[in-house]
Amino acid sequence: MFKPVSSKVSFPEVEKQILAFWKDKSILQKTNEVRQGGPEFVLYDGPPTVNGNPGIHHVLSRIYKDVIPRYKTMKGYRIFRKAGWDTHGLPVELEIEKELKFNNKSQIEEYGIAKFNAKCRESVQRYLKKWEELTDRIGFWLDMEHPYITYHTGYVESCWWIIKQLWDRGLVYQGYRVTPHCPRCGTSLSSHEVALGYKDAEDPSIYIRFRLSRDAQNSDVKSLPKLGWNARANKWEQEVPALLAWTTTPWTLTGNVALAVSPDETYVLVQAQSPQGTSERLIMAKALLDRVLGSGNWKIIGEEVKGRELSGALYDRLYEPRKEWIPAVDKLPQRSHVVTADYVSVSDGTGIVHIAPAFGEEDFDLGKAVGLPMVQSVDLDGKMIPNGKAWDGEFVKKADPMILEDLDQRGILHHQEKIVHTYPFCWRCQTPLLYYAKPSWYIKTTAYRDEMVSGNRDINWYPDYIKEGRFGDWLEHNIDWGLSRERYWGTPLPIWRCSRDPGHMECIGGIQELKSKPGVAGIVEPLDPHRPFVDEITFDCEKCGGQMKRAPEVLDAWFDSGAMPLAQFHYPFEDKAEFETRFPGDYIAEAIDQTRGWFYTLHALSILLFGKPCFKNVVCLGHIVDAKGEKMSKSKGNVIDPWRIINNQGADALRWYMFTTSPAGNVKRLSIDQVNEAMRKVLSTVWNTYSFFVIYANIDQFDPVKAKRPAALTDELDRWIISELNQLIDEVDKAYTNYDPTEAGRKIEEFVDYLSNWYVRRNRRRFWKGENDTDKLSAYFALYDCLVTLSKLMAPLTPFLSEELYQNLVRAVDPQAPESVHLCDFPKADMSKVDEKLEADTRLVMKVCSIGRAARSKAGIKVRQPVARVIVKTRAKSEQESLRCLAPQVLEELNVKALEFAEPDADLAGQSCYCTMEDGGCVVAVPTEIPAELIEEGIARELTHRIQSMRKEAGFEIADYIVTYYQAEPSLQKAIESQSAYIKQETLSKELLNQPPAEGAFSQKAKIEGREVTLGVKRLGN
Ligand SMILES: [Zn+2]
Ligand SMILES: [Zn+2]
Repeated sequence: MFKPVSSKVSFPEVEKQILAFWKDKSILQKTNEVRQGGPEFVLYDGPPTVNGNPGIHHVLSRIYKDVIPRYKTMKGYRIFRKAGWDTHGLPVELEIEKELKFNNKSQIEEYGIAKFNAKCRESVQRYLKKWEELTDRIGFWLDMEHPYITYHTGYVESCWWIIKQLWDRGLVYQGYRVTPHCPRCGTSLSSHEVALGYKDAEDPSIYIRFRLSRDAQNSDVKSLPKLGWNARANKWEQEVPALLAWTTTPWTLTGNVALAVSPDETYVLVQAQSPQGTSERLIMAKALLDRVLGSGNWKIIGEEVKGRELSGALYDRLYEPRKEWIPAVDKLPQRSHVVTADYVSVSDGTGIVHIAPAFGEEDFDLGKAVGLPMVQSVDLDGKMIPNGKAWDGEFVKKADPMILEDLDQRGILHHQEKIVHTYPFCWRCQTPLLYYAKPSWYIKTTAYRDEMVSGNRDINWYPDYIKEGRFGDWLEHNIDWGLSRERYWGTPLPIWRCSRDPGHMECIGGIQELKSKPGVAGIVEPLDPHRPFVDEITFDCEKCGGQMKRAPEVLDAWFDSGAMPLAQFHYPFEDKAEFETRFPGDYIAEAIDQTRGWFYTLHALSILLFGKPCFKNVVCLGHIVDAKGEKMSKSKGNVIDPWRIINNQGADALRWYMFTTSPAGNVKRLSIDQVNEAMRKVLSTVWNTYSFFVIYANIDQFDPVKAKRPAALTDELDRWIISELNQLIDEVDKAYTNYDPTEAGRKIEEFVDYLSNWYVRRNRRRFWKGENDTDKLSAYFALYDCLVTLSKLMAPLTPFLSEELYQNLVRAVDPQAPESVHLCDFPKADMSKVDEKLEADTRLVMKVCSIGRAARSKAGIKVRQPVARVIVKTRAKSEQESLRCLAPQVLEELNVKALEFAEPDADLAGQSCYCTMEDGGCVVAVPTEIPAELIEEGIARELTHRIQSMRKEAGFEIADYIVTYYQAEPSLQKAIESQSAYIKQETLSKELLNQPPAEGAFSQKAKIEGREVTLGVKRLGN
């Protein structure tokens, strides 16, 4: 006997029982025990940052990490699935800053780095528990008992070892260059972090007059006489002209040291009407005159010149910088001058670009190339360094309007507009990033660009277009990895510098190495390799005897996660084989933004260290949006807490929806309604079919172990569903092999529909009938095989529901069977049972029936009303043959007495007394007139249906025998009498009595064909 199964189910309740079962029986551990001799399949768990509660998008990547290993287990693999937790970095620090209400870094230093980092550590430990809880509840099987945690000393040590390898090969360097800098977080960001934070922003777009120098120094520039310079008299013929330049960052004007023109574009001097209503002389690109000055507002005077002829022309700076703003090695001449740069275009602005090498990458490179000084007028907090101006100490964006006002008052501002452009913001704190020249540490990834690109060819990407697209592009345009962060809670950069000569540097590759340095001091045991403790450790400079102190920076947290293939094993300090046999990993899965994050850092480090990729297969997941397609965000209030779905619909429902709603790489819309719908459509249908089976199997005491299987399948429906089942096994197997759970799920969904809405529905009678003959047994075995196989095919997708089915259908009757569905082998398709013709024929029948049902409903004929005939016009003669073979199914399904065919050229729609429907060239017609004897039959069926419902409402068992009472008006009475044999058989009524319901009967009034009837049912004692 099977455990009784109610048709009503709470999936979350079932799941909790299954979780307890798995834990109690150590099923996860057993999955590897039973596969002891098998090959190993290695999952690299991309470590989520545990700086907050896991969200719905985390569920998506976690179930994708789960589904493939579960499948591989069933295919005979042992699984390596070590959990990983990313615990360092800006997100964690920001969380603590928020908690402590800090606004900038200096507050952290005042508070104390040791205390601050201790809080970071506590915070991740706290959140880690939440992550474990969710991981467990959604059925993501992961080895959380032996996780790798990035703040662990061993993990940090492996990171140091990696840096040291790269250092020894000259691949780590400190560069003075412009880096994206978050002024709030006070740190550089890497290009992959910048890529996360682009947004549209409105900025001022301003046109500024840079007056040419009025004195003799300009005489060297040969083109100037063409623009009105009288070389002989050493003065301008008329009013001194101004170069008209354009910028969107007014604050950078305080660092201006040059103006750049395009060498080959044409520039002109114009007499123009200024926006202030005066006449003025301006120099700018000819191509942009109309756009900037307005047509009719200008007149060219003098000759045209090429940009290169303007090179060297001197102009008056707008602001004089303080001496301290200029590095000692640079000199700022009395006047600044025009330079040429190929990147200057005439597609926007004025063709004249203002240059501030401290604040822009192109400016910086240009400055280096042509020898411009640097002027650093802004501090690392993004504030204007005081210089006796109104904007002293203001944040740069706040200084913008003040600077504009100043320029306007001085007659320098020509005019201003607003511009909306994409601008990078800090991905963590939303502060606009500044491009800022400062020293920073880099890994020279560009030296291995070709190797990274060719290594990518060996990786299987799902979906495949990511490989050459988003990821390939990213590699092609690789720039050196900005590795260092001027922060606190991270893996410290293991580079020590001499206090006497900063050129004396040493990279430390391990803790023992550090401890054995000559003159080492400041070690506190047990050694915590974090700041501030590691900052206290000093040793002697081997070159000059000076004191070596650690460079203050910490590492990009993406370095930690990219190091996981090695660092999760504490390589090379512990058992090296652990790493070596598990490199490269077989499988990783994360969201698409990781093409520039984790996927990249994994790949880069692996190529740099070992010359080959570290993962073979990667599933790249689309983002989750709300039902309207909008990004989920706290501010919009459309975030869905995963627990809400897990507690109401269950983890399987969420998993099922996420796997099947769209292919892995697509954007996924998600709402509670959609999850409900998917659950109702598939999981509840599976449950109802399972419940149906168990109820009848228990009545008939069907025992799949002891009962004798019929030698061959004789029933058409049995042959058909078993054919579909084997086809399904084959298709689902292939889909999982291709890392495509979506396809697997969709095939299963189609099969579940066939099984429930055709096979079971068409077969109810065979399960229902009294005698236990071979035919009934055949039906039981067919349905049983379908359900058991389905539980195995679905196990990777919906591990809980599958386990529930398996435990009751298999383990309850066969204690020798594997203890869990997840310890079973994946089903093997028996292709000899596949009959493609039968499948096609049955699909045709289903189609004809669906059209026929529509025709009946169009004619207003009730479902239970039998009809004399149905006429079908098929697309081909061969289809008539197919339908004839399966005619009983059509007759019963459409509730008709005869199936007839129309000739292919017949005009069915034109026939009177028939109602027709058409779909894809197939036409079905039903008569609109119904003869009296069929109306009586319809009444009997309607009445039967009523009595069946009453049996249920009264709480009778399906096999209970009853007495039925009825009282009705004469015409109805006559119909009931003539059909009494049928009614009695269908409702298990020993008697059908025309009298008021007896004492204790369950009775109801009903309306049949608009006529009233009183019904009563009473259970008979045994
Ligand atoms: Zn920031
Ligand atoms: Zn030294």
